[in-house]
Amino acid sequence: MNEDLIAPCGMNCAVCSGYLAFVNDVKNKGIRMPYCKGCRPRNKLCSFLKKHCTLLMEGRVKYCYECPDFPCDKLKRLDASYRKKFRMSMIENLEFIREHGISRLLERETDRWKCPQCGETICCHNGICFNCGLEKLKAKTNPYRWEDD
Ligand code: SF4
Ligand code: SF4
Ligand SMILES: [Zn+2]
Repeated sequence: MNEDLIAPCGMNCAVCSGYLAFVNDVKNKGIRMPYCKGCRPRNKLCSFLKKHCTLLMEGRVKYCYECPDFPCDKLKRLDASYRKKFRMSMIENLEFIREHGISRLLERETDRWKCPQCGETICCHNGICFNCGLEKLKAKTNPYRWEDD
């Protein structure tokens, strides 16, 4: 886990399918998925917030909790969808950082998303480890869904 991969909206890019596909180079292992280097490293925001927020676009806040409107409606909608489908909450991550600091969040994220088989990272979009679970990932019809949903 890495501080640079915690996006302004509270997303941990390290557990995103786009980032995990990129670092595990899944295209070379027979899986077609979009690659992403992470919000901060590519200096570009995900499509959900970028068109709607001048503060983020202009880099005037490091994290959304610094914003007077936090959590704005757009972030709340995104958060609700992630809570429901992907078992995590950007708003909760941000509140945790505000209260305990980024290092504690990174420790918590490391434990939370650690693959019990190989110790690598499980993806929040489908619950699969992109290191030891590639066969499962290949077999998936929808990579943005957990197995038991
Ligand atoms: S797609 Fe969005 S959430 Fe995923 S790694 Fe890229 S910037 Fe982060
Ligand atoms: S909480 Fe504030 S900074 Fe974050 S997306 Fe909403 S308006 Fe922008
Ligand atoms: Zn694994």
